[in-house]
Amino acid sequence: MKAQFACAIVFGIMIMLAPRASATHSETRKAPPPIPQEDSAVFFERTRSAALPQSVGADTALGAMHTDELLASGDFMLSQDAEAEHYLNALLRQVLAVMPLGAFVSGDFRLYLGRTRSKNPRETPAAWSFPGGAIFVEEGFFAAADDEAALVHLLAHEAAHSILRHQMRRIEFLRQPEIAPIIAWRQAVRSCAPADDACNAAFGKLAELQAGLRELQEQETDIMAMETSIAMGYRPQATMAFFKKLYPEKLRHTAAWLVRQRIDPNKGYAFHLMDAAAYRRLHLRYADTYAAPPMPNPFLRK
Ligand SMILES: [Zn+2]
Repeated sequence: MKAQFACAIVFGIMIMLAPRASATHSETRKAPPPIPQEDSAVFFERTRSAALPQSVGADTALGAMHTDELLASGDFMLSQDAEAEHYLNALLRQVLAVMPLGAFVSGDFRLYLGRTRSKNPRETPAAWSFPGGAIFVEEGFFAAADDEAALVHLLAHEAAHSILRHQMRRIEFLRQPEIAPIIAWRQAVRSCAPADDACNAAFGKLAELQAGLRELQEQETDIMAMETSIAMGYRPQATMAFFKKLYPEKLRHTAAWLVRQRIDPNKGYAFHLMDAAAYRRLHLRYADTYAAPPMPNPFLRK
């Protein structure tokens, strides 16, 4: 009797729960929207040429927010090395003078030199940028860049992300009619059950498109950076040597192709240093602190 009663209660609870459980279940297991057939190159082209709804002021505001957050976190410690900062700033102004700035002006760009507190100085140095022209460079780059051409490439690459408004274009990608429903669905579903093939396929395709878009943006910035450094009279071979040292994977992607297109044996490139003595001094100053190992694949990190 007691056991029957307990069973009845359990059964009753199961019946009560059953409709709710299956409602929640069918809600999260709603079939994914159609998976786009296009590859990332299609979305890259589409977002590259899109007239963005936001003005460049929105880029600047977004970048300022990221910058404030990063500096307030205390993880990026600004350099006290006035000479290095001055040197990089002067180099950045030269770089910007030859770049097609579009809706931006040289004054929009800000350089932050420093080090990441949470990072081992033996790790490969990083540089990154926020929308609207905030460029962050870790001090270790002076140690890694055997040639000023590498620093020029780095600055032009980061500036190009802002000029080309890459973050805003990634936001635009999320608003595409094929993508927006998948994003909304993903926010509801959060994660797929291992056996849910349709869900896994949609998650996978979305991740693949986002990674592909990002990689194509990286190639776009590298092409712009290489063109900038060549226009300034730097040897493309010097940039190649830097890639080979730090980013073995990147060599295969863009630089090798670009240099093959651009090396003209009859033309010859000037070995152009802004201030050779200052450069060498800075390079040596940081070489003791930062021994940069080669980095596997920048595309996986960014
Ligand atoms: Zn980049």
